[in-house]
Order: sequence, then structure tokens, then C-alpha cells
Amino acid sequence: MSKGNINISTENIFPIIKKFLYSDHEIFLRELVSNATDATLKLKHLFSIGEAKGEYGTPQIEIKIDKKKKTLHIIDQGVGMTKEEVEKYINEIAFSGAEEFVEKYKDKIEDSGIIGRFGLGFYSAFMVADKVEILTKSYKKGSQAVRWECDGSPVYTLENIDKKEIGTEIILHISKEEKGFLEENKINELLTKYNRFMPISIKHGTREETKTIGEGDDAKEEKTIVDNIINNPTPAWTKKPSDLKEEDYKSFYRELYPMQFEEPLFNIHLNVDYPFHLTGILYFPRITKNMDIQKDRIQLYQNQVFVTDNVEGIVPDFLQMLRGVIDSPDIPLNVSRSYLQSDGAVKKISGYITKKVADKLNSIFKKDRKDFEAKWEDIKLIIEYGMLSEDKFFDKAQKFALYPMVDGANYTLEELKKKIKDNQTDKDDNLIVLYTSDKDKQHSYIETAQAKGYKVVLLDSPIVPHLIQKLETENEKVKFTRVDADFIDNLIKKEDTKISKLSDDEKSKLEGIIKEVVPAEKYTVQMEALDSSENPFIITQPEFMRRYKEMSQTGGGMMGMGEMPEMYNLIINTNNPLMDKILKAKKNKAKYVNQALDLAKLSQSLLTGKEMTEFIKRSFELMK
Ligand code: ADP
Ligand code: MG
Repeated sequence: MSKGNINISTENIFPIIKKFLYSDHEIFLRELVSNATDATLKLKHLFSIGEAKGEYGTPQIEIKIDKKKKTLHIIDQGVGMTKEEVEKYINEIAFSGAEEFVEKYKDKIEDSGIIGRFGLGFYSAFMVADKVEILTKSYKKGSQAVRWECDGSPVYTLENIDKKEIGTEIILHISKEEKGFLEENKINELLTKYNRFMPISIKHGTREETKTIGEGDDAKEEKTIVDNIINNPTPAWTKKPSDLKEEDYKSFYRELYPMQFEEPLFNIHLNVDYPFHLTGILYFPRITKNMDIQKDRIQLYQNQVFVTDNVEGIVPDFLQMLRGVIDSPDIPLNVSRSYLQSDGAVKKISGYITKKVADKLNSIFKKDRKDFEAKWEDIKLIIEYGMLSEDKFFDKAQKFALYPMVDGANYTLEELKKKIKDNQTDKDDNLIVLYTSDKDKQHSYIETAQAKGYKVVLLDSPIVPHLIQKLETENEKVKFTRVDADFIDNLIKKEDTKISKLSDDEKSKLEGIIKEVVPAEKYTVQMEALDSSENPFIITQPEFMRRYKEMSQTGGGMMGMGEMPEMYNLIINTNNPLMDKILKAKKNKAKYVNQALDLAKLSQSLLTGKEMTEFIKRSFELMK
């Protein structure tokens, strides 16, 4: 047996490991299982190139708890280590990494993921153990098995032992404070969280399986005890897209999110080798109102080891609502988030994902437009948000972003422009896109517009005011106007003169009567000679006022606009026969005006409460 001092100048590293990395102590298991996996993959490779002789079979990693001895065992059938290798990789190299780590990050450890980057992986065991043993035998011919032991001081012991099987067993003597790691449930939970998709089978405990033996009446159920395998070593994202069917993607989704009962809308298989490595599968979920975005997020893996489900900075904001898996050995996982955001490689990854998503959407659009149109309602929020926040995505989305008409048709902006060019170009050569944010509330305005042959788009996402602002900036001479922004002839102004049935004298008399009744702080009265079949009173709210107000409400820098009082225009159609009636009435002038005003309010869904009660009363009275 030999004793030695671990090669280290920093006085004692263990208190530092324990103190700084305390918050994330559970990652020790991920690190040790990763090491076991690396060792197994190495030996697998050596077999495949004939460097190791014979058959490897199907190696496993086993995690065992010994409650009596208070130990946790991680056992692999990998390459193992010779005595010299233990001295080199465990005593020297790992610690030089540790030293570098301590030196650099003494004061500012933000992200304990940093541990792996400096070869501190193995030593994370000391976060939870008072004493650690390594029993190992190298695959190399005639190797002597050894046992290394260290109790958290810089002193280790190394001795020869009898060990027949090739591979390594790490024994952690779990400390009192960390005894939770001796619970089956806890270990199961951690293995499921971090190691669910690792490439080597991981065994932990046993479970009962019921098998049916025999057939028909002779069939018998038999219970057998089988190994409990934690992981799926070949998850879908590691396979070639050409080897996967639609159903495989769906079943992988269920595997990832067992508590999700909704099927995903579609998936995007990511696969890139250059200038970085990245694989993965992203899913578009059906966006529902009560969806919990914090739950079931995109998961980030590094070579099939789970790292985090916080992909901020790696996946662009607008795609954070997607689900699925991203796996990349090239993302510098072990550094802080602020560093991540300024990292060039990470920016490229984010750009790649954006492009891939846009391409996929475009290909679905082209391949099966009906299907794409059917899904639009569920995906539009993500797409519209993407158009608003990423210019590159905006450009690509021009090809597939849909503008649904209230009559059921779906057009791209280019298609829509062609459709409305003849009828909806105003006298200043602006192309006016009419839209509604609520088919029911703005119903009468939609009808009036449609009667003129105008097309009305349904745009009802909360970010629409911002989006159309952007669309107007990007498309010169295209203006978006909500159907209730003005009376019909003013929505799209054309060169035609209006003939008024009333004389100027009558007009000003009428205006006086109306202004006496209508509250001036709420309505700007506007006398217009419209078509006589047009409603007598029409309430409108100018597009730009309303839009800025909405933008400030949903966040967008228009400070103060949100507190502006509600102001409306009250358009009086002087050509409607009702005007004559008001002018000539001997009594009840105010009643008629109020009634017409309430009806106008009603068609804007503005009539409620006391006003509604009065309106109903007055209506009955007028019927007498
Ligand atoms: P890293 O995995 O980043 O190299 P670690 O501290 O986790 O750093 O491990 C240090 C080294 O110890 C490994 O590179 C490997 O050579 C050796 N090692 C650790 N665990 C095992 C194991 N189970 N089998 C074989 N070698 C191992
Ligand atoms: Mg490691």
C-alpha cells in the first residue's frame, strides 16, 4: 500500500468544493455516471477497432445503495484504470483542474456547472461523501487491480486488490448531512432527471414484471423480478430523420413529457455538423390559454447528458414556447448565463435554430397548405412574435405568415395585396388593409365593409398592434385600418363628391340639437353626408389613437398613452331620413338623439349597465 499527498498547492480544496458548490450538490451523480459512460464507450470503441480482444456483449452501469454501510456505488464495465492511470488522472490532472478552478472562480461562482469544465467532475463526489473509494481494473492485459481511497484531506492511499472484473466501482461513503442520497426514490429521481437518455444502459434496483405464459384457457400470469433499467440509450434525436416515422416522433414526445396528453402539432429535426455540432428535435405544441410555460420546457443535453431546461440565450425568445430536446457538445455549458449570451457560437446556434424553424414552417406551407392553414390558429402567436422580434425570421415568414379573412379564406400578405389592389387603394395610392380584432363586437362594421366588396382580415392576437406597425414600416404604401376606425367612406378615401340632402342651415341646426345631448368630453361630433341607407349615427375610434393606446398597454414604449381617456368620433349621417325626423319633431328631439346614440353604442359594444337599462326603457316608451 502506498500513501501520498495529492498534488496540490491550494491548501485544502475540499472545504471550497463543499462550500461553493453546495447549492447544486446533486450533480455529483451526473458527473460520476458520465465518467462511467465515458469509460464504457471508450472500451466499446477499443473492441470495435480490435484493440481489445473478444466480445464485449452489452455492458451496463449499475447504481447500488447499501443502506447498512451508508454507501452509494457506481459500477461500470468500462476501460478501468491502471495504478499509473489513477495516479495521473485522479491525483494529478483532476487536481490541477481543480486548482485552476479555485484560482479563477474563488469569488464569483455563478454557475456550479463550471465543475465539469475544469475536470472537477470526479471530485464533486466530495460534496456528498466523507470518504470516496475507487476500485478499478484496467482492460489492459495483465493489469493489477487497485483501490484508491481518500477521506477529504489531501492524503490518499493506493493499494493492490483482488478484483476480477474489468471496470471501475466508485464507492461514496455518504455524509450524515447528505443521507438523502441513500434513498432509492431520490436516486431514482436523479437518474431519471440527468441520465434518462444516456447511451449506456443504467441499472438501478429491480422491479416486478407480469408476464402472460401460455395461451387461451391455459394462459397464466407470472410475476418475475427484472432489472430496473432507467434509461433509453437510443433516444429519437440520435437517430437519422430518414429512420424515423411520424409515430416515432410522437412517441418520443410522450416519452419526454409523460404528463402531456395533447399531441404536438409538428416537429423539427435538427441536425448540423458545421460550424458546430447540434442535434435535437423541437415540437410545436398546441398553445392553450392555461398552458404552463414554466413546465415541460425544451431540454438541453450534452452528449445525451441532461444539463438544464433553461435554454434562455440558446433558443431565441420566441421559440421558448416550443418543446423538445437540443443536444450539443459545443455549447459552453459550464459558464455563466451572461457569458453565454455574448458567446459567438451560441449566437450562431440561436440563428441556426431560427432558420431551421422558418424553413420547416415554409416546407409545411408549401407541401400541405390546407394542413398549415388548419394549424395557423395554434401557431400564429409564436410566428407573429418571431416576426416582431427577429428580422431574419420576419423576412422568411413573409412566405408563410397567414392573414385569415373573416369569410374563411387565408392569404399571405402578397396574395392579399393582389386581391385588394383594385378595390382598396385610396386616392393617395395607399393600399388599405381592413382588419377586425373581434368578429362579433365589430360585426356591423364588418358587414358595411363587406357590402362595399372590401376584404376584412381577422387579426386578434394581443401583439397585433405592434405587428401591423412593423408591417407598415416594411411595406411602403400599405396601411392597416380597423373596420371601426372611421365611417365606411373614410376608411378608404376615394375621389367622390358627396351630395348633402340638408341645407347648411338645417345642418347647423341639427348639429346644435345633437351637441346639446351628446357629452362633449367623450364624443367629437362630425357631420357627414353619407349614403342614405347608411346608419344615422356611427361611433368610430381613429386607428392611430387606438393602436398606440393598445401598444402602450401591451408594452411598447408609448408611455402615458395607456392612461388617455376613451375618446370617440360620433359620425352623423346627415342624409339618413332620421335627420329629417329629428329636425321636424315637435317634442322628443332629445329622446331621438339619445336613442340613436345608444344604438350606435350598442353596435360598438359600448352600451352597459345603467345606460343599457335606460335604453331599454326608452325603447319601450317609443314603441307606444
Ligand atoms: P473528466 O471526466 O472531465 O475527464 P473527471 O474529474 O470527471 O474529469 O475525471 C477525471 C479522469 O479520471 C477521467 O478523465 C478518466 O481518465 C478518469 N476516470 C474517472 N472516472 C472513471 C471511470 N469510471 N473509469 C475510468 N476512468 C475514469
Ligand atoms: Mg467527468
